[in-house]
Amino acid sequence: MIETFAYEALPSRVRFGRGTIKEVAAEVDRLGARRALVLTTPQQAAAGERLGALLGSALAGYFNDATMHTPVEVTERALDTLRETGADCVVALGGGSTTGLGKALALRSGVSQVVIPTTYAGSEMTPILGQTEGGRKTTIRSLDVLPETVIYDVDLTLSLPPMLSATSGVNAMAHAVEALYARDRNPIISLMAQDGIRTLSSALPILVHEPANIEARSHALYGAWLCGCCLGAVGMALHHKLCHTLGGSFDLPHAETHTVVLPHAVAYNAPAAPEAMAAISRALGAPDAAQGLYDLVRALGVPLSLAKLGMPESGIDKAADIAVENPYWNPRPVTRGGIRDLVARAFAGERPR
Ligand code: NAD
Repeated sequence: MIETFAYEALPSRVRFGRGTIKEVAAEVDRLGARRALVLTTPQQAAAGERLGALLGSALAGYFNDATMHTPVEVTERALDTLRETGADCVVALGGGSTTGLGKALALRSGVSQVVIPTTYAGSEMTPILGQTEGGRKTTIRSLDVLPETVIYDVDLTLSLPPMLSATSGVNAMAHAVEALYARDRNPIISLMAQDGIRTLSSALPILVHEPANIEARSHALYGAWLCGCCLGAVGMALHHKLCHTLGGSFDLPHAETHTVVLPHAVAYNAPAAPEAMAAISRALGAPDAAQGLYDLVRALGVPLSLAKLGMPESGIDKAADIAVENPYWNPRPVTRGGIRDLVARAFAGERPR
């Protein structure tokens, strides 16, 4: 029997393929925009210039200072550039940090957004914006920040380093995993979630050895799109909340933290979400969801422990305290003892239980 559900499609246009970046000027024009401000991180400034050349007369200028966690002071500087250049559109080329800046500018100025993702984070498919001010991260959900157009160009992901490909890919899988047991799950998103897990879990082990394998790159980016749709459509639970707490409290890197925590969060939720676990196992081709994820992460050769990411041991208790401070929905009740045990195992990099 089909469970009762509600499903709402988000309005966004997606182009996918190789060399699709060449369509950027046409996509800006399709939005009715005339002048586009190109956004990148400092590391991707050169790629931004190549993009600027493709925009031709629609190029308004560049802002190359996108920063992780979207600090408000960076957004304000970018807003000045947006006004000085008279741009009516932003083109964000990069990962979740650059996409976040584009969303923050859209929120404040109403400009339309074209996003060209170069990691697997998935922010481009969500109406969610996380921003930091004075060390505090706040999250808003609004259609005002959902990018109008997303151009996935597989060729742009070839330069993503193997280890970042692996952690960014597992970060994407985490969206799909939690979508399968979300309180507001629905059959369409669950289909996307299963295919997202399947495509990424088969592509990532190839990419860490052969980062230029175009077939695997194509599957990974497609999987990342599916997983981004999951994040944009349904609510997340323990795994995302815990990673948010750990990242914010101990300044841990985003994708790596997701990669370490995911098998443990899944093991914690397993008794309360048997159907989701069966779907994850099938998608992974492994007998057990949590063990299968742990084996995948281990095979990718990325850090397996929060200790390796720089978390102090005293953080185990602190994280457990924070986790129960603000209650949220999770398939299995969140208890201090249970979370302490989970974080302790993730800290040590042990196999989940
Ligand atoms: P990132 O955007 O910070 O990128 C990491 C680094 O890799 C940057 O220096 C970037 O320039 C570089 N890089 C990106 N693509 C590259 C490529 N193809 N080749 C070479 N270098 C490349 O990292 P991320 O993991 O994509 O994003 C993390 C941020 O996104 C976090 O702040 C997170 O909170 C946010 N996020 C938000 C949402 C949302 O829905 N709001 C979803 C996922 C992530």
